[in-house]
Amino acid sequence: MENTESFSLKNMIVLGHGAPNQVKKVKDQGRCACIWSEKTGFCRIYPIPHGYLYDWEIIDVEVRKPSNDGRENTFIVYNYEKDWKKMYEHIKVHKNEKGNRINLWKSRRQDCIDTLRLLAVDSFSDLRDNRRSFGIIKPSIIEPFLENNREKSIQQKTLLDFDNLIMNQKDYKWIPCIKYSCSTKCNAKNPIHKSKIVEWGCYVWMKKNPNNEEHCKKVFDNYHINDNKYEHYLLIGNTRVHPKSYIIVKVLRFKK
Ligand SMILES: [Zn+2]
Repeated sequence: MENTESFSLKNMIVLGHGAPNQVKKVKDQGRCACIWSEKTGFCRIYPIPHGYLYDWEIIDVEVRKPSNDGRENTFIVYNYEKDWKKMYEHIKVHKNEKGNRINLWKSRRQDCIDTLRLLAVDSFSDLRDNRRSFGIIKPSIIEPFLENNREKSIQQKTLLDFDNLIMNQKDYKWIPCIKYSCSTKCNAKNPIHKSKIVEWGCYVWMKKNPNNEEHCKKVFDNYHINDNKYEHYLLIGNTRVHPKSYIIVKVLRFKK
């Protein structure tokens, strides 16, 4: 029996999205989003139609509990199967008095930065050991690299996961990954963590010339990794099949 009782998550800030993938019941692409509020904490919602929400928008969303996903604070958008063409009935983006969508990064950048700094208290092991759905890591080292997608490697085990399956991922020769270490106390046996990035912008870039390693490597240029004028955080989230495995939803970066 599906749990059909609905409830609302209100005043939630959109922090990141997974890459789009096929939603079977509606035969269209949908994404998973990470949303947060001070009151409710981090939540995962899916599926969201591609292009429907942007990071740093504020939303109210009507959801239900999933029947086959045991991850913490993970919810399904209510009645998406029937209402896919009118999801605005369940996902309401906050607007200003002029009727424009509010984007906090544009209107209150410093508040966003302060919030990120406050949230970035966890280490990888804090999240893993408590099976938390999301967290923001302040890394002490970040090292991006491309992994050859045709070789057996870390990402294989997450390929079947609903919210990590990248559309036609087999079309990509390279998968962007990051090695990082935590700046807060971490109990993981290996202090260097290795995760793939599911930020959609990366794949949009690589798709322009998917087999050219030099081109694909440039995907990391706009992270400004070795530029000390920039501050970096990693938004990481766990996977459904392996709730102790984490992928990088977004590399948060901004000029200090
Ligand atoms: Zn760590």
